[in-house]
Amino acid sequence: MHDNIKDTLSTTPLKVGVDLGGTKIEIIVLSPQGDTLLRQRIPTPAKQNFNSAQDQYRTIIETIKNLVSDSENQLQTQLLNHKFQYIGIGIPGAISPATGLVKNANTTCLIGQPFQQDLENALNCSVKIANDADCFILSEAKDGAAEGAYSVFGVIIGTGCGGGLVINQQLISGPNAICGEWGHNPLPWPQAGETLMPCYCGKQGCIETFLSGPGLTRHANTNWNTNRTPEQWHQALLKGEPLAIKVFETYARQLAKSLASVINIIDPEVIVLGGGMSNIDYLYQRVPEILPEYVFSDQVLTRLVKAEHGDSSGVRGAAFL
Ligand SMILES: [Zn+2]
Repeated sequence: MHDNIKDTLSTTPLKVGVDLGGTKIEIIVLSPQGDTLLRQRIPTPAKQNFNSAQDQYRTIIETIKNLVSDSENQLQTQLLNHKFQYIGIGIPGAISPATGLVKNANTTCLIGQPFQQDLENALNCSVKIANDADCFILSEAKDGAAEGAYSVFGVIIGTGCGGGLVINQQLISGPNAICGEWGHNPLPWPQAGETLMPCYCGKQGCIETFLSGPGLTRHANTNWNTNRTPEQWHQALLKGEPLAIKVFETYARQLAKSLASVINIIDPEVIVLGGGMSNIDYLYQRVPEILPEYVFSDQVLTRLVKAEHGDSSGVRGAAFL
């Protein structure tokens, strides 16, 4: 190997990010210059396949370990000692500053676990964990859909409903590690037909129970006696089915109401949408049309944009940790 390449490797390790999502686990490896060297994803071990939360938790650790060592094998000529030195991990939850254990995770088998410690033991390298929505918003504010904006609120609406806030390129984090967790506020300005359903957090009627993918289907399938996935509802919308238009009109209004209450507090320049539900183009037309009914202002100049790095934002942000 040429000497100055060796020097670069020894001083600037590759950036490695892992995104642990509700449905998939993804890894990305970036060069020191930010080029993507490797990217792969596998399904997240699902709750219904295990007898206990502990079994699911152990399998998730094992799955991440295999994904990391497989990636190390593929890139071993570019690695010192054939190992990654640091790994950033985005999780659907947060590490409690008080206990060091996972809290607020909608992959509930993580709750109460010493996830960082367990991963460092399994992976034999330094691990930095952050909330997946925070990783996502960091990536989008840095060089994505909100690049150049002073204040950015990012939301992930997928399996769950998370959020994060970046001001002046800095991720805002508070003493409770919950900044941006709008998904567990109640749905504002309630309307007829908005049934309050229980949330995994112990309350009911949280925004997440309406706006997450499972939330949408739970309400739509109950109200209309159907049995469709979010994707099937979306396909029906694209075909112009009147029932699907009705379902997404309700959904767009619920999203607009929920974002209006955020705008009334933070007044961000840009709101970035990520997660599976952010692929529904209908929302970028209807939500800005509905927002002025709820925001306390004569006009609403906040831009609503789709994540530029798609569902890779979370894993890219994790690599920047
Ligand atoms: Zn909740």
